[in-house]
Amino acid sequence: AKKQGRNKHVFFEIDMASRAESAYSLENELRVAVAQNQFFLVFQPQVGVQDGVIQGAEVLIRWRHPDRGIVPPFEFIPVLESSGLIYEVGKWIIREACYYIRKWQDLGLWHDEAWLSVNVSPNQFYNPVFVDDVMEALKEAGLSPTALELEITEGIVIRDTENTIKKLELLRSNGIRIAMDDFGTGYSSLSYLKRIPLDVLKIDQSFVRDITVDPTDKAIVEAILSMSKNIGLEVVAEGIETEEHYKFFKGTSCQRYQGYLYSPPVECKRFEDMLRERVVA
Ligand code: C2E
Ligand code: CA
Ligand code: CA
Ligand code: CA
Repeated sequence: AKKQGRNKHVFFEIDMASRAESAYSLENELRVAVAQNQFFLVFQPQVGVQDGVIQGAEVLIRWRHPDRGIVPPFEFIPVLESSGLIYEVGKWIIREACYYIRKWQDLGLWHDEAWLSVNVSPNQFYNPVFVDDVMEALKEAGLSPTALELEITEGIVIRDTENTIKKLELLRSNGIRIAMDDFGTGYSSLSYLKRIPLDVLKIDQSFVRDITVDPTDKAIVEAILSMSKNIGLEVVAEGIETEEHYKFFKGTSCQRYQGYLYSPPVECKRFEDMLRERVVA
């Protein structure tokens, strides 16, 4: 009994410390969130610049916290990463995305050539079974690998370039497309492009925001577009909020865009309504 009492005391101290350290308690809350399935996905349409048709969508995670309501990803993704929870959550995101594609295909809302684009975190990507798990999720849902696009970041490439190249080659040889997210915001943007197997560049919204007034941003985006055209990469413009943003890209080789102008990320019901209203290309 004495031993038990001491243990209780120790636990009590740890509990107090955790409350003082918000990152630690956030991690605990996230463990509960994983166990109780408090996450859900939202979808932001990616639209053809020329024809205005929904071609696919980016998948973004949300956390429905029991007390605090919807928590945005920037508040918890870093903790998922540092705690190692990202692997389990990331695997769930990919399986969930595959489940939706299957559902929409069965409902006749989703064309065979449409895709969902899923964000991949570094520690998720580096897991040795990552590629196997992605292929397994596709297989379980009975989907072609072209149904998924994976969004990686420059941070992934920089940390372990050789390993990254091998994995990307494997993913692409299986038919999965790879997009470089937030392009232009990292360090070695141009030098790695020659070596990294990619299909798509996503122009970061920080370059788009002032594109009609800031000549430097305009020049950067034009350079990205012309380079991409020359090396055969597709380009997605992010953060298209205004008609002016859209008009700029309409006159370029940019293939698709996403942003509040067309739609913010929406829950599945709303997204399905959008798919019913518009034929998916
Ligand atoms: P991201 O991948 O660059 O996602 C784009 C972010 O821009 C999303 O924020 C989206 O809601 C927002 N956005 C979309 N259109 C507009 C627009 O027109 N204007 C502006 N100002 N913003 C727009 P969100 O959903 O809060 O996600 C933030 C970041 O969190 C994402 O940036 C991504 O890095 C991360 N994230 C979100 N979901 C996931 C996920 O499922 N897995 C991983 N690993 N990371 C995720
Ligand atoms: Ca993204
Ligand atoms: Ca982005
Ligand atoms: Ca971003």
